[in-house]
Amino acid sequence: MSAELPFLAAFARLWPGLRVIDSHVHVGVWGRRTVAGRSIEPFRHHEHASLVDVLRHLRRHRIDLAVVVPTYSPDPRTAFAENRLLPESAKKAGGRLIPGCWVDPSPAVAGLLRETLDLAREHGIRVLKTSCDGWAGKSSADPASWGRALTRNMERILEYVRAAGAVFQVHTGHDRSHVRLVEKLVRFAGEGITFHLVHLGGCVSGQFYLLPRLREWTDEGLDVVTDTSMASGFAVRWSLRLARTNPAVANRVLFASDAPWGTFESEISKVLATVGSGTTIVRKVLFDNAARVYMTRSSG
Ligand SMILES: [Zn+2]
Repeated sequence: MSAELPFLAAFARLWPGLRVIDSHVHVGVWGRRTVAGRSIEPFRHHEHASLVDVLRHLRRHRIDLAVVVPTYSPDPRTAFAENRLLPESAKKAGGRLIPGCWVDPSPAVAGLLRETLDLAREHGIRVLKTSCDGWAGKSSADPASWGRALTRNMERILEYVRAAGAVFQVHTGHDRSHVRLVEKLVRFAGEGITFHLVHLGGCVSGQFYLLPRLREWTDEGLDVVTDTSMASGFAVRWSLRLARTNPAVANRVLFASDAPWGTFESEISKVLATVGSGTTIVRKVLFDNAARVYMTRSSG
């Protein structure tokens, strides 16, 4: 383990063979932008400008494998531009990176979406990622807020996911990306699509909403997994407590750092701090669940 991570080094001595899949990291420059009237550069010296930086993140933290998706920003063209580079360069990473493409169903970027789906088909991409916070329009995750063109574009996205046996990663957060609205998208899609709802529901009210429903959704035949990135500490602890008695929860919580938005050290500490939940559950969260969801469908 890295000398920078004494906590992890101690843990690895106690438990040799610790394996980690980071189920959600970003590539792409966010840079300097004006937000709320102030010029900010929140990721200086920590950007993942290219997959070289992502691979450095893996090496530094002894991560076995990562799912990597474009960074999205207020300019919808940024993430689409990253789509053009990602599939080809991920192939050179020796199987350690599973690339995902950014999608946005907004009518204003319909041409870019078409190009992305063609590219995904060509490269056998098995992960698509979206967040309505990054969409070119103002629609929410709720299909009731969509016009006809956006609905048709979302159907194209879902057709791709279904046909490719892919995973659809969807951001959960506040307001229009609240998991209460994201659930409506999951129901719109119906059975046969694996949803990875990142951030365990995204905010406290979202975490209160999502965690009791994971088992219900599974019982209904919906295929939903979630990850621990950017989640409140209590929500990670709670999810692992539920996992002790509930196999549906134990199999559906994945570890992610969301780097560079999250820091690996703090994100993994939230999981390892709950090791009292049992090593089997921690092993599932850190590796086994993501291996089942992603490694069986990584592109060839
Ligand atoms: Zn993210």
